[in-house]
Amino acid sequence: MTELTHPAYGELRQVTPTAAVLLQNNPNMMTLDGTNTWILRAGGGSVVVDPGQLGDDHIDRLAALGPVDLVLLTHGHFDHSQAAAEFAQRVQAPVRAQDDQWCVDAEPLTDGERIPVGDLDIEVLLTPGHTSDSLCLRIDGAVLTGDTILGRGTTIVAHPDGRLAPYLDSLHRLAALPEGVIGLPGHGPELPDVAGTARQYLEHRQARLEQVRTALDKIGPTATAREVVELVYADVPEILWPAAELSVHAQLDYLQGR
Ligand SMILES: [Zn+2]
Repeated sequence: MTELTHPAYGELRQVTPTAAVLLQNNPNMMTLDGTNTWILRAGGGSVVVDPGQLGDDHIDRLAALGPVDLVLLTHGHFDHSQAAAEFAQRVQAPVRAQDDQWCVDAEPLTDGERIPVGDLDIEVLLTPGHTSDSLCLRIDGAVLTGDTILGRGTTIVAHPDGRLAPYLDSLHRLAALPEGVIGLPGHGPELPDVAGTARQYLEHRQARLEQVRTALDKIGPTATAREVVELVYADVPEILWPAAELSVHAQLDYLQGR
């Protein structure tokens, strides 16, 4: 078996029989190696998921891969969605997302919807939490997870749009998938068993919630998110603390039952 290489900027890499990835060269602390743009193809149908952000030749490379029937977005964060409208115009395809503001010449996606394109049969699973408009896309044997589950580490709950209670529900939904369904994330390498990873995420969230409860006991009820971060995320590089603060806000909201 050949070892997977991720990243491989600018080279289309086939991951499953129907899903290939083109990794955008936009790495940073939030995008990990960069944005994964997924190209789904079967029976003459072609769907591009998350065309990425503007500012380089990424959509030129995507457009050069051939005709596109449909563009889908896993959520509206700019590193996934910014290039969508321009790319869609280039390849003359509609754009669909959960949030109407990203749709071009098409309706918003709904939970449980099946999208037939060529021999592709894509099932929409709304999985709010990372953002309110986050969703996953199920194809045979795999699930595109956007930023709901990443290929490495954990994701953030982007408070106030992202919320912890729906995020935990979404993780439970993914944890209930059959064993061995491959996770195709928005950032980082693919995952061999997305349900198993979802269960790890749930354990991690519960552990963090316990830590936040303990921190609140220690600092008192007037604790700021920053104070909680300094106690609870001491193991995380300080450069990630602003992102952690968003998650702590989401956790404080959750604990206060708002
Ligand atoms: Zn995101």
